[in-house]
Amino acid sequence: MKYISTRGQAPALEFEEVLLTGLAPDGGLYVPETLPFHAPEEIRAWRDLPYDELAFRILQPFVAGFIDDDAFRTMLADTYAAFDHKAIVPLQQIDHNEYVLELFHGPTLAFKDFALQLLGRLLDHALEKRGEKAVIMGATSGDTGSAAIEGCRRCANIDIFILHPHQRVSEVQRRQMTTVLNDNIHNIALEGNFDDCQRMVKESFRDQSFLRGERRLVAVNSINWARIMAQIVYYFYSALNLGGPDRKLAFSVPTGNFGDIFAGYLAHRMGLPISQLIVATNRNDVLHRILSQNHYEQRPLAHTLSPSMDIVVSSNFERLLFDLYDRDGAAIAGLMDEMNHGKATLDRDALARARTLFDSHSVDDDATCATIREVFEQTGYLLDPHTAIGVKAARTVRRHQDQPMITLGTAHPVKFSEAVEKAGMAYPELPYHLSDLHDREERYTVLSNDRAQVQSFMVREIFGSA
Ligand SMILES: *Cc1c(COP(=O)(O)O)cnc(C)c1O
Repeated sequence: MKYISTRGQAPALEFEEVLLTGLAPDGGLYVPETLPFHAPEEIRAWRDLPYDELAFRILQPFVAGFIDDDAFRTMLADTYAAFDHKAIVPLQQIDHNEYVLELFHGPTLAFKDFALQLLGRLLDHALEKRGEKAVIMGATSGDTGSAAIEGCRRCANIDIFILHPHQRVSEVQRRQMTTVLNDNIHNIALEGNFDDCQRMVKESFRDQSFLRGERRLVAVNSINWARIMAQIVYYFYSALNLGGPDRKLAFSVPTGNFGDIFAGYLAHRMGLPISQLIVATNRNDVLHRILSQNHYEQRPLAHTLSPSMDIVVSSNFERLLFDLYDRDGAAIAGLMDEMNHGKATLDRDALARARTLFDSHSVDDDATCATIREVFEQTGYLLDPHTAIGVKAARTVRRHQDQPMITLGTAHPVKFSEAVEKAGMAYPELPYHLSDLHDREERYTVLSNDRAQVQSFMVREIFGSA
């Protein structure tokens, strides 16, 4: 399978190159040139497959030629063996025809593990094939960093450096990163804020000469195609468990960068009968404004009780726009240029097409807490604030009461105790495999917000000398 850029000006690439590359050279994002399509008979025949085998059937066409089938099967089995629930993605019913899909049974208790557990293994395989080693560098405000670290801890060909703002992430989030003691894991607590961390990473990518030409820097942010791909599987898995493909279903997705919900859109295009996809946002509602009012305008970041959805720009939305504009790369380049200048409106036909499948809703902190309380009172089940936004949006803009509505449960409530406490709930307990988290040994290095110091630290850690 070949991958092309959404802006139409970059050469098509194979999977292996896309895996190792971030943005396309024309500034676009890579998408498959064509999508596999599965007829209902084929999907129906997958009904009894365990999660890892279903993942193989769905993902194999995307990686064909990069990894042989047996090795890929083994990789997928290993990936999902790291999850603490036998079903991998259990469904929790919260009302008649209403469900939460629990995507937080991976090592860091949030759905990003689905993508990053697989991505680490795919990257390591690519590097092994090429006889190369790589350095992953990323900034985190808490969540993605731990998922990336867990995804890479056993990768022989990767050193990973994660920068977090010193004393500005929660204790659980810090410990999830800093108690991973493998030699290739390097946690930097930067004396600065999250923006300083991001700037440091950006500057290091721009000029990689400090790595002496011996290593390449690889990004694992959510525009990486392999991350999106891994997220398609659970849409199929949950639908098959609730009567698909012989029954239509709807999904509500707590959305930030539009990666997770874009995977749902791909599942729909690949043949899964999805009747509605709900873009559930917090007060950072740029996507809701564009879908409901055709008004794109960048606004300053708002800090909310659902921090993993606090975004200004939703990068992966460009991938959907590419399809809505009939894959016209030049049109997308023009539109993205307008958006980068702060304001834009969509072509009316493109927006109408989006609205046949997508609805959106924005939920503020008060409504988030009210939903956590409401669902707890109705069921005894505790939602995390991101998932609560999904449930609230589902209950507000649902189209079909007679079809199952599945909200993606993107995190375990213990990760976001501030919101849980604000909602008036008791502090949830850590799952048993993390119950000793507060007693584990930590390792991290505090560095000042100074590029020379950070880079020479990295060089010492990678090469053993400055
Ligand atoms: C990353 C994240 C999201 C948003 O997912 P996107 O793919 O960026 O839309 C939602 N909830 C949680 C808990 C997350 O970590």
